Amino acid sequence: MHRLRASAKLVVLALIGSSFAFANGPADARSEGVLTAPAAYQATSPPKHATRIGYGGAVTSVDPDATRIGLRVLRQGGNATDAAIATAAALGVTEPYSSGLGGGGYFVHYDAKTGKVQTIDGRETAPRAMPRDAFIDPKTGKPYPFTPDLVTSGVSVGVPGTPATWQRALDRWGTRSLKASLAPATRLARHGFVVDKTFHGQTVDNKERFKAFTSTRRLFWKGGHAPRVGSTFRNPDLADTYDLLARHGLGPFYRGALGNQIVHAVRRPPTTRTTKLPVPPGFMRAGDLARYRAINRRPTSVGYRGYRVLGMPPSSSGGSTVGEALNILERYDLAGMDDAAALHHYLEASALAFADRAEYVGDPAYVDVPLADLLSPGFARERACRIHENHALKKPTRPGNVATYDGRCGPARGVSEPAPDTENINTTNLTVADRWGNVVEYTLTIEQTGGSGIVVPGRGFLLNNELTDFSTEFVKGDPNRIQPGKRPRSSMSPTIVLRNGKPFLALGSPGGSTIITTVLQILFDRIDRGMSIQQAIAAPRASQRNTPTSLAEPAFVAAYGPALAAYGQDLAVSGDTYTGATEIGAATAIEFGPARLMTAVAEPTRRGGGAAGVVRPRGAG
Ligand code: GLU
Repeated sequence: MHRLRASAKLVVLALIGSSFAFANGPADARSEGVLTAPAAYQATSPPKHATRIGYGGAVTSVDPDATRIGLRVLRQGGNATDAAIATAAALGVTEPYSSGLGGGGYFVHYDAKTGKVQTIDGRETAPRAMPRDAFIDPKTGKPYPFTPDLVTSGVSVGVPGTPATWQRALDRWGTRSLKASLAPATRLARHGFVVDKTFHGQTVDNKERFKAFTSTRRLFWKGGHAPRVGSTFRNPDLADTYDLLARHGLGPFYRGALGNQIVHAVRRPPTTRTTKLPVPPGFMRAGDLARYRAINRRPTSVGYRGYRVLGMPPSSSGGSTVGEALNILERYDLAGMDDAAALHHYLEASALAFADRAEYVGDPAYVDVPLADLLSPGFARERACRIHENHALKKPTRPGNVATYDGRCGPARGVSEPAPDTENINTTNLTVADRWGNVVEYTLTIEQTGGSGIVVPGRGFLLNNELTDFSTEFVKGDPNRIQPGKRPRSSMSPTIVLRNGKPFLALGSPGGSTIITTVLQILFDRIDRGMSIQQAIAAPRASQRNTPTSLAEPAFVAAYGPALAAYGQDLAVSGDTYTGATEIGAATAIEFGPARLMTAVAEPTRRGGGAAGVVRPRGAG
């Protein structure tokens, strides 16, 4: 989370007065407008912009160092994939609690030459030896308490997919080697970045978990305290790990010494003697790493008011859930409605799509996901029958029946209540476009803020706790129950929207299962409610995921609460249990205008604001 990053970095700049940017060298620092003077050996942060409009390529992410690195790759002639991997590797340095080598994610690519959108599923997998009752405490016979016990564990660590995703993306669409793509992030890790209040705060929030492991304490709790705001945080171990992959490729990670260390950390977590956390060990073996593959998948695809919306298919539920909700919404003249009526429909469509997500979506290698049905207009027509134009459905509402739908209104299938939503809310997202018209939308994560809490000793990165995205208890027929080798269902929704076959918009967000509603709401605000992409990203958010109340940001409640109450829509102000943050999501997007004009947008305020950049700003020389 980056709530306070902007102000923190301004303070640091003011304090330092003059400095130079080691990450990219003095020439870069000049070109980015940072004062240059070889003063103290101290990292500085580049300036941040929520919106940049221009030509020749664009990058937007939550972090200014990462965005700057991506832009530099584009300026040096790299393409969108090259820049995306360099940006992602940089996020592994500056956002180590959200993403990195120890996690997974989903990569969506538009190829300007072929006009095709293709995806890579880099989701983590369950170890082959993982039993179905892995989340049950043998001492009590009940599921481990979710936080902090289950999340701070070896048992929650999935086989990482991020390194394989990077290599696969570069092999398919890149022009640079993994070595070249990792180089700027390696320098950033070695020379350091400026600690802001967010990084400091996230470390403090994780104090108990991070102090539970010798390796994590050494890296993130050095000297008995969290890294101080304004100090330079260096991660030479991560720089060495990136160097290792640069020299030897992925061998050491998936089939070598580094992989063995990962396995060891999972099976025998390096706990400190003082920790009171139980830290259940995991089941990963070297063979699980050797067997891991990132998977090429065809995107989900729905038409929406003349646009084509392409998203991530299962193992993510992002594409199917966003797509089904759009199909339902397309049945209504939302533009002709007032705000409350349109929002009522948005919330209802989302609840219905979430009911179907819980019933039908899981890893397609294990579950026969009826994707074509979920995305068919006939199914949407029948699901839309449940929406009443002026009063809200009782939630949770039941899923539709993909076996018997006929597009007509009829009784819904009776099933049990959906499993509780335990997905966490920390992840990162980036959007990149290049001068040739290629586009990348990439969401990556280690799940919880700080993942499992386990740093692989001496390697500088955290392992994920992605397997907590499985249902906690074993329920027969649940598409998201634990199974050996399976990918837990994700909500990540990297999305590319085409108009007449050409990119119109690319967008994505972190936020656990609110990712789906954030992407849906931005599309709805942009396409149906006449907002610009900047307005749609800034607009207050609400998230209805088939629960009795919809989570909503305070500004949303203030603006629409009373009017939506008249529909029986119950809003609850969003709030993170640990940090108290009320924000939903942290989106990035690029919109494409005529003559290859690009509007790159990041959050203006959520998480302290993100960093958008373009290669050649409009109006500049
Ligand atoms: N684990 C979540 C998912 O795969 C992402 C977590 C987040 O966005 O914070 O959907």
